[in-house]
Amino acid sequence: MPEYKAPLRDMQFILNDVFHVEKLWQTLTTTQEVTPDLADAILEEGAKICENELLPLNRSGDEEGCQFDNGVVTTPKGFKAAYQTYVENGWQGLGGDTEYGGQGMPKMLTAMFEEMLYSANCSFTLYPALTSGACLAVHAHASEELKTTYLPKMYEGVWAGAMCLTEPHCGTDLGLIRTKAIPAEEGGYKITGTKIFITGGEQDLSENIIHLVLAKLPDAPAGTRGISLFLVPKIKVNDDGSLGDGNGVSCGSIEHKMGIKASSTCVMNFDDAHGYLIGEPHKGLAAMFTMMNYERLSIGLQGIGLGEISYQNALAYAKERIQGRAATGAQQKDKAADSILVHPDVRRMLLTQKAYNEGARCFAAYTAMQLDVAKGHPDEKERAKAHALVSLLTPVAKAYFTDRGFDVCVLGQQVLGGHGFIREWGQEQYVRDARIAQIYEGTNGIQALDLMGRKVVSNHGELFHQFYEEVSVFADSQDFDPLPSMKHLLKEHLELLKDCTEKVIGKSKEDPNIVGSASCDYLNLFGLTAYTYMWARMISVVEPETEFGQSKIKTAEFFLNKILPEAKAYASKVLAGADSLMAISEEEF
Ligand SMILES: Cc1cc2nc3c(=O)[nH]c(=O)nc-3n(C[C@H](O)[C@H](O)[C@H](O)COP(=O)(O)OP(=O)(O)OC[C@H]3O[C@@H](n4cnc5c(N)ncnc54)[C@H](O)[C@@H]3O)c2cc1C
Repeated sequence: MPEYKAPLRDMQFILNDVFHVEKLWQTLTTTQEVTPDLADAILEEGAKICENELLPLNRSGDEEGCQFDNGVVTTPKGFKAAYQTYVENGWQGLGGDTEYGGQGMPKMLTAMFEEMLYSANCSFTLYPALTSGACLAVHAHASEELKTTYLPKMYEGVWAGAMCLTEPHCGTDLGLIRTKAIPAEEGGYKITGTKIFITGGEQDLSENIIHLVLAKLPDAPAGTRGISLFLVPKIKVNDDGSLGDGNGVSCGSIEHKMGIKASSTCVMNFDDAHGYLIGEPHKGLAAMFTMMNYERLSIGLQGIGLGEISYQNALAYAKERIQGRAATGAQQKDKAADSILVHPDVRRMLLTQKAYNEGARCFAAYTAMQLDVAKGHPDEKERAKAHALVSLLTPVAKAYFTDRGFDVCVLGQQVLGGHGFIREWGQEQYVRDARIAQIYEGTNGIQALDLMGRKVVSNHGELFHQFYEEVSVFADSQDFDPLPSMKHLLKEHLELLKDCTEKVIGKSKEDPNIVGSASCDYLNLFGLTAYTYMWARMISVVEPETEFGQSKIKTAEFFLNKILPEAKAYASKVLAGADSLMAISEEEF
């Protein structure tokens, strides 16, 4: 079975040394009860359920997959019992609002737990992740009555959540949806339509499933301005909170797919299902974004989690596998060959995995910190600043974590040679499971457009400038003693990103295609710069005399020498304009 040990040491370093959470959590009004000791205890217990309960079900879940029979979906053997353990131990409500039965833990902590969950069992994790996202949307936008009825059961995990946006003819362009909502005589609405690709739309883990459904009211304006959000339970809930009759919600089939096979991906039919409006009529997409932003960070964590377990297994294999001799002469003379860890190319692959994973983990914690500050800082200005950063960084986190996460899984597979391609070692499953994260929750192409178009160009770089100022002040304030080249490289690449940002904003006025042509390369450049900032923050607090510190310094050096140079190629592509993309006609393709 593949090996996995939760990277607790790195997580504690990031929380305590890099982001000084003890002070931060005392400052925020929402996290004053949380101490580093409590955080350690939670992460240690979280690691146990991931390593001991969920990891052993990962491969069998992949092989067995979900089964569909006449509307009933059965998850693989062991999933139901593991889900019971998960919810009975209170994990579902970890980040939930204490007023409704949640435990109110900061996002910085829950994000780390989520990373471990994705490492251990990606398919399993999608069920509770969807519930957490649904809870957030209900919490932020639903009426008090809906919140009191639904949130406590969802935080308990007794009822799960699902997100129903996609329809057969539309995924990205949700303005085209056809699902209808008609006011019902008895109050509420009748929802009718078909949704496809719904993760956890039907399953046998929870007593009820709470669907958050996008639909159009009879007087809806065309396009995305006419979308409303509805809460539609699979089983109706009586006034006293007990379960009542079925609700016109049924699963038509499940998909057969490349990866995440133990996560049910369902066609969901709504036939006059009774639902409740969440938020205002026609403002459903904005409300759904509360859930989608959470899910986007969560899906980013899928990339990191899978990258981490792939790295751990590739490293274990590389230490054992003997092939060839070191270029400098035999290292393990008692053996017929040296371990493949002596070869520079194998080291390149492993160090690339390690550098991306650790940079990503730090950036995830940084983004989660902004979410915590936006929610709980006593100063309104600080909350607004953090909110602005979250909106800028969420598309980077989702797309960059998952693109690099997939690359990292492929590298882990490559380290094993042919053994990476066959089932026995588990590496091929990580590649298959990581692939979807680049596609769902808005494809990474759409994330890049969101970053470049909505978050950068449309406000003339105002949000970008906030990020730029922060990084610039930090770079100037440090000597980076253990790695002095960091200062110059961080500043140089920050300026490169600024230059590209300003040039694209300038050109966007003349050429409507400029944003779309630059966006993916711009996101990659942004991601690399953000990771450089994270490595700089780690290096500024590292203790060079420890083995852990040396490992960080050497990995950072590798990142600066062997990965960061790609930034200049991305910058050149950002500035190459749209002409070579648009010149070719449909016939000439
Ligand atoms: C396993 C799985 C689970 C899923 N879970 C859920 C779920 O729980 N709930 C849910 O509602 N949906 C879910 N989805 C749907 C998923 O979010 C969509 O598949 C995804 O958003 C892309 O939509 P699409 O497939 O319709 O592709 P399309 O929108 O048809 O896009 C096709 C291609 O065109 C590109 N493209 C489209 N429009 C533009 C544009 N304006 N500019 C530039 N490029 C563009 C896209 O980036 C993509 O590369 C899931 C999908 C899968 C496969």
